[in-house]
Formats: sequence, C-alpha cells, structure tokens
Amino acid sequence: SLTIGIVGLPNVGKSTLFNALTKNDVLAANYPFATIEPNVGVVGVPDPRLDTLAEIFGSQRKLPATVDFVDIAGIVRGASEGEGLGNKFLANIRESDAICQVIRAFQDENVVHVDGKVSPKNDIETINTELILADLQTIEKVLPRLQKESRIQKDKQVQVKAVEEAKAILEEGRTLFSAGITKGTEQGLLLHDLHLLTTKPFLYVFNVDEDELVDEAFKDEQRKLVAPAEAIFLNAKIESELIELDDEEALELLQSMGQEEPGLANLARVGFETLGLQTYLTAGPKEARAWTIKKGATAPEAAGVIHTDFQKGFIKAEIVSFADLVETGSILEARAKGKARMEGKEYVMQDGDVVEFRFNV
Ligand code: GDP
Repeated sequence: SLTIGIVGLPNVGKSTLFNALTKNDVLAANYPFATIEPNVGVVGVPDPRLDTLAEIFGSQRKLPATVDFVDIAGIVRGASEGEGLGNKFLANIRESDAICQVIRAFQDENVVHVDGKVSPKNDIETINTELILADLQTIEKVLPRLQKESRIQKDKQVQVKAVEEAKAILEEGRTLFSAGITKGTEQGLLLHDLHLLTTKPFLYVFNVDEDELVDEAFKDEQRKLVAPAEAIFLNAKIESELIELDDEEALELLQSMGQEEPGLANLARVGFETLGLQTYLTAGPKEARAWTIKKGATAPEAAGVIHTDFQKGFIKAEIVSFADLVETGSILEARAKGKARMEGKEYVMQDGDVVEFRFNV
C-alpha cells in the first residue's frame, strides 16, 4: 500500500505526533491480527457514510479506509551529502509515496529549537534545501550521459529537455512539486527513471500552540508558505492526549478549543487525498466497509482490492451511488426505482459508489 513519510527537524514534535498516530485504535479494533512495522502508523480515514450504511444494512462492523504513515528519522543539515543518517534518510524518503513535513510553530522555552528560534519559514527552507540538493545530485549524475545519448538517439531529446528544466527549477531553490511537476504529469513521466524526491506530493503539518489553532490570519500566512501543498494545523501534545480519552471527553476537549474533530482525522483525510486515493463502499450484515483504490481505477481493478479472484473472474458490478441509496433507503428500493446500474469492465469507479461485484469462481 502507499505510504506517507513523516520528516522534520529535531524537536518539532514528530515523535509525539507519531505516537498519537500509532495509538489510534482503528487497527487494534478492526484488524486484531494485523502485524504492523514499529515505524508505521496506520490511521483510519473518518467516513460518516459508513455509519449510514451500517444503519441501512444492519452491519455489525464499520471498517474505514486507512492511510499508512512512516516515521523517517534523521533529517539533519547535510543529509544530501550523506552526513550521519543522511543516506538512509534519503533512501527512506525515496520509498515513500508522499512527504509529510512536521513544522514547529509552538513556542516553548523548555524545548530547544535546533536553530535557536521558532521559524516555520526557515525550517521549511532547511528541509526543502536538503531534498532539492539531493535531486540536483541525482540529475548531475545522469544528465551528461543523457545529453550525449540524445545526440544520437533523437527521441531522448524530450527527456533531456525535461531533466534540464527540472534542474533549472531546483537551482532556483524550488521543489518540483511546487512547480507543478508531479508523477502524473507529462514532465513527471519523463523524469520517472530518476526517482527524484521533490516530484512526490508534499503536505505540511504545523505543530501549533492552542491559540494558533483558531488564528485564521496566522494559518493563512502558513498556507501561503506551502501552497500548492496542503497545510494541517494541530497540537501534537493535545493529539496524544485526545487518543487517551473516550469519545465524549475527547469531544469536550476539542470543543473547548474551538475544534470539531481531532487533527489526526484531518491529517488522515488530507493524506489520503494527497496520495491520489479514493474509496468505494460495500455493505452487508457483517460489515460496512470503505475500500481504497487509485483515482481512475476501473471496476475490475476495484474488485481486485477485495480479492484477486474477484478481478480475474469479474463479470459485472452492480452499483448504486451513496446518495441514491440514502434517498431510496435500501438496495431493493434502489433497484425498484432503477437506481442500481450494472457496469462492465470499462467502468471507472466514482467516489461513493456502493458496489456488489458479480464474478465467476
Ligand atoms: P521530535 O524530535 O521531532 O520527534 O520531537 P518530540 O516529539 O520528541 O518533541 C520534542 C519536545 O517537544 C518534547 O518534549 C515534546 O513533549 C514537546 N512537544 C511536542 N509537541 C509539542 C506541542 O505541541 N507543544 C509543546 N509545548 N511541546 C511539544
């Protein structure tokens, strides 16, 4: 499955956040036999539609989609030069599908900042610089050879041009992601073989003080710093406390801070979106469940997420949109009212499709 790597300077609250991520009980409650790597935090993506489905179908359990966060220790200045844990750090980021930077905004005299002062802007620059330098090194290693080859193999010229353009962007101190060059784009595809770090989607978690959680002007300022990446604001310490409370107490604490939901819920949702994922839904008396697929997945690919045999033997998918199901109140009614569609192999799944697959075994 796809993963989001968590990075950040020392003492910004990564471990505190990560502990909260690993303690959330989605997995413990629903997948008691799952083995999870110690450096992976699996978080449920909150999905109120599951509550509705469970009511309609009388489902015993509700299983949300999940997002995997990986704790990537060891960013230090000079990581791109292989200092200290630098090489391992870069290798771990290369394996992640998105990069989540934790940025310190909270003030606390008892917690030392590596640079002596709290400055989100500086911290973001410090981390991005290491990632940018690593990408420039990669490019400098391959570009001369590519340029040489392209003199004979003319079809390589577009790739050389893409690499040269990427180099120019990086030399301006910008990530490729912020310049709109990501995996899915034409430019991104031409750069694919280089496994660059900054074409990965970024998201930013600002670890803020309680009063900053509701300071819209402050938050807008930070959002501008990181656009087009998403910014999430939370207080890691409070998140780790929320995890220990029951639902009612947690809600009370959240409301006292002007919040409607834990920051982790928002982080999971934004993380899921950043990875380019979407869900479809299944429901029955046993469980109501959100399954994870890539945006653009076809019906057989979606079936394959449940079981490879479902994909191999795929015949049709019976689909009712979530909205139609809620309106009609049951699958039988939806069928009677012509709201249930039979879709074939070419069908591209839509978010909120409630599905039953027909397949040969
Ligand atoms: P890491 O080095 O980035 O993993 O940072 P830690 O999670 O170990 O946090 C460093 C210190 O900052 C610890 O003493 C935490 O208790 C403290 N800390 C983490 N988050 C917050 C926060 O939101 N507010 C305050 N005041 N302290 C925090």
